[in-house]
Amino acid sequence: MEAFSKIVIIGLGLIGSSIAHAARRGKLAKEIAGFDISADVRARAAKIGFCDTVPDDIAAAVKGARLVILCTPVGAYKSVATAIAPHLAKGAILSDVGSVKGAVVRDVGPLVPPGVHFIPAHPIAGTEFSGPEAGFASLFDGRWTILTPLPGADAGAVARLRGFWECLGSQVDEMESGHHDLVLAITSHLPHLIAYNIVGTAHDLEAVTQGEVIKYSASGFRDFTRIAASDPTMWRDVFLNNRDAVLEVLGRFNEDLARLQQAVRDGDGDVLFDTFSRTRAIRKAIIEIGQESPAPNFGRDQKKP
Ligand code: NAP
Repeated sequence: MEAFSKIVIIGLGLIGSSIAHAARRGKLAKEIAGFDISADVRARAAKIGFCDTVPDDIAAAVKGARLVILCTPVGAYKSVATAIAPHLAKGAILSDVGSVKGAVVRDVGPLVPPGVHFIPAHPIAGTEFSGPEAGFASLFDGRWTILTPLPGADAGAVARLRGFWECLGSQVDEMESGHHDLVLAITSHLPHLIAYNIVGTAHDLEAVTQGEVIKYSASGFRDFTRIAASDPTMWRDVFLNNRDAVLEVLGRFNEDLARLQQAVRDGDGDVLFDTFSRTRAIRKAIIEIGQESPAPNFGRDQKKP
């Protein structure tokens, strides 16, 4: 892929810094500039050195950019897009990494100047860590990135962005933004809501002490706590911006949970066994396509829990 003359990353946390590291690794830009609203984050990012420049001014950062990627929490997109719109060059690509897409199209789309190619994107890759120290070059290797181009999007610009993500190590798919939000509501947003809820419930359970919850966490609880440690600002914004799809899958989830509750109450072993066998097959399928480690206990070192 021909390198971009200048890439700008706005929001220098886990995802922004990982894009910069991976773009460096793949020699995908002659210059990488970064901007973050926090002076402290800018200073830490400059010290780590994954960007060539980290200006204090957002307008200076985007000047001359051929690719600008929004990597802030989704709730900040509108103010960021308003600030950069007058400084975007004709022919530049404006993209993002937000975990929801319909709201991004709604909020950012109208602010994009004519001649700028707006192509929303979402890498399905992450960890429970945040901040500029959390990023690493291999985060996107073998993972999926979904592009949600608007109808009538410039095919050449879409192909260029696809090539960029492929060179970052990702596999790339395209879909309509509303469909993306429904798919992610079930595969990502609902699991996070459940994890936040179960960890909160365990914390509040008065009959069980905090010490016991932590001591015996390896019995399953611990795996929820990893997800429930995810960034609160980012996840608040996900639920504020994907309300309809999350409520739709949550309704379905509650019905299925009620069915399992009934089976437990009735002692209906067939329903429980059938459900648990079906779900086991799903995990096997995820391992078979290389999206999860087949090692026992998620590949955790038993000696170092
Ligand atoms: P993060 O580590 O918290 O980084 C976000 C950075 O953006 C923070 O440094 C934050 O600064 C900064 N920021 C906030 N408002 C800003 C503004 N108005 N202008 C410039 N910078 C601003 O978060 P992340 O995990 O990288 O997530 C970033 C985006 O990636 C989100 O939209 C999220 O939906 C998406 N995403 C995340 C994951 C994941 O697993 N984490 C996966 C895929 C996609 P402060 O800390 O000072 O607020």
